[in-house]
Amino acid sequence: MENMAIFDSPGKGRGLKATKEFWAGDVIFSEPSLAAVVFDSLAERICHSCFRSQPKLQRCGQCKFAHYCDRTCQRAGWAEHKQECSAIKAFGKAPNESIRLVARLLWRLDKEGSVVSDMQLTTLDELEDHIQDMEEDDLKDFKVDIHNFVDYWPRSSKQHRIEEVSHIFGVVNCNGFTVSDQRGLQAVGVGLFPNLCLVNHDCWPNCTVILNHGNQSAVNTLYHSQQRIELRSLGKIEEGEELTVSYVDYLNLSEERQRLLKTQYFFDCTCEHCRDKIKDDLKLAGREVDGVKPSPEQVKEATDYLFEMLEKIEKARIRADYHEVVKICRDSITKTEPVLADTHIYLLRLWSTLSEVQAYLQYFEDAAEYARKMVDGYVKLYHPNNAALGMAAMRAGVNHWQAGLIEIGHAMVCKAYAILMVSHGPTHPITKDLEAMRMQTEMELRMFKQNEYVYHSMRDAALKNKPMTMLHEPKGVEEGIKNLFHRKK
Ligand SMILES: [Zn+2]
Ligand SMILES: [Zn+2]
Ligand SMILES: [Zn+2]
Repeated sequence: MENMAIFDSPGKGRGLKATKEFWAGDVIFSEPSLAAVVFDSLAERICHSCFRSQPKLQRCGQCKFAHYCDRTCQRAGWAEHKQECSAIKAFGKAPNESIRLVARLLWRLDKEGSVVSDMQLTTLDELEDHIQDMEEDDLKDFKVDIHNFVDYWPRSSKQHRIEEVSHIFGVVNCNGFTVSDQRGLQAVGVGLFPNLCLVNHDCWPNCTVILNHGNQSAVNTLYHSQQRIELRSLGKIEEGEELTVSYVDYLNLSEERQRLLKTQYFFDCTCEHCRDKIKDDLKLAGREVDGVKPSPEQVKEATDYLFEMLEKIEKARIRADYHEVVKICRDSITKTEPVLADTHIYLLRLWSTLSEVQAYLQYFEDAAEYARKMVDGYVKLYHPNNAALGMAAMRAGVNHWQAGLIEIGHAMVCKAYAILMVSHGPTHPITKDLEAMRMQTEMELRMFKQNEYVYHSMRDAALKNKPMTMLHEPKGVEEGIKNLFHRKK
């Protein structure tokens, strides 16, 4: 690989460094998954070959487990499914997603050897499994999985030592990457990308990783694997600099990020942002009004109250009781908005939820107002090219457009587009959507400036057709981009 090389990163073990200079939006590498599987919970709703979400899927007549869009997808996925198909039949049911993934990995490696392409910089043997670091409860589940794997693995397939199998389970446990649907909005499965496993964490990283299913119509390899990730540069990277991504959402306090990284990835983060607790103060700040700040006690009281309310809101959201969500949000805003700063992370979460739910209930003015507050807060906290910021700006742009606030709507869409050109790249389906939205809002803005009446009547007609609708049920769909690696709940 001419862009990067493996090196010994001080205090971190192996890592990747840039072997030339990069600029914002450059693709440092792109790689297909070694194997990927659909989540157990979505096995009947997501195509097992292309990972698209489809209302009507066809079932594999043999195992009755795998589902596909059509014959083309079934044929394309056959190489990866063939052995799995007869194993599921013999086992009597499909085992869980971790077991299915490990089995798919082993079948592939048994067939092609430990290095499947000349782009692959590491083998699974060389990756860490962190089994020694696992907590007792996790270890128990882990052993159950291995036990079931042994039952599931056919006698006719190559037999592996139990240590070998545990190692792969361990590798998948800490490196399994969340695979999203074609639009990048819903987490639908988990896959393993060997080069990505080499990229170390930093809470303020210089790269971002994005899944781009693309359309590689030229299927000339046996495993056409359409799950493909890109490592993209977020800004200027010097030759020799370590390449990093963030494994956790930056909107957590440094202490919470360190806790997550320790329990899920087994290391102590010593990045600059953790060491100096950068922006922690903003994330829990009180609101200054006319030079007067609330007392630390008042801020703490409001913070604790809001934390409690957010749990209630989440429960109501899961019950799909959206009017209850709105009611609790409104009460919480009255109580805490006067005390907490607009960068307070709980307030941001509150605004995000409220705007999402109000958009779903079609109260677009409200949705727009709170989405804008969310974006304004995010801008002060996130890296300017952070994907979650871009997605938030896109949501705010759509909400403003829906509310007929075309000037801000267009500005937000442009902002989102600029970020996603870096974080997602020009060929990603969401960037293409944004490009179309940008043209639409630009045209409408011109019309608005010429004749407001014509604009409003045209907009009403457009709203009826809902060409830019994002009225999915509010389920916190952006979580997938904030937490890169798949964690069992
Ligand atoms: Zn498909
Ligand atoms: Zn099958
Ligand atoms: Zn850190």
